[in-house]
Amino acid sequence: MSDYNWCLGPNCHTRETQSRVRGSGDNKVLRTRRIKQDSHYIRNSIFSYFCNNRCLFDYLNKHVQAIAAIAPRSKALETPIKVKKEKYESYRYDWNGKGGAERVPYTATKTTITSVDNSNG
Ligand SMILES: [Zn+2]
Repeated sequence: MSDYNWCLGPNCHTRETQSRVRGSGDNKVLRTRRIKQDSHYIRNSIFSYFCNNRCLFDYLNKHVQAIAAIAPRSKALETPIKVKKEKYESYRYDWNGKGGAERVPYTATKTTITSVDNSNG
């Protein structure tokens, strides 16, 4: 197994950074970055293949049709939930135009969404 992956970003080798400069004298180039596979985190991450977000999104934008075709979705997915609305006393500040504010109580609504365990039907 290789200790490095070349970044898959289609424009990686065109970014003008010191980290990409290779060669000597008049024979210098900008080269695709290579990504050292030196940690469990890197090896199990999307950044095992991309040196940064820009290269990742360049790749996604260039290949979006092919990527979407890997796992297409023909209908929306749904997650069963319960929505609970609770009233509670809160307050706001009404500015009086003279540099001050008045504290005004009001009844606010808190909405809580919880998932439903539908494994029992
Ligand atoms: Zn890159």
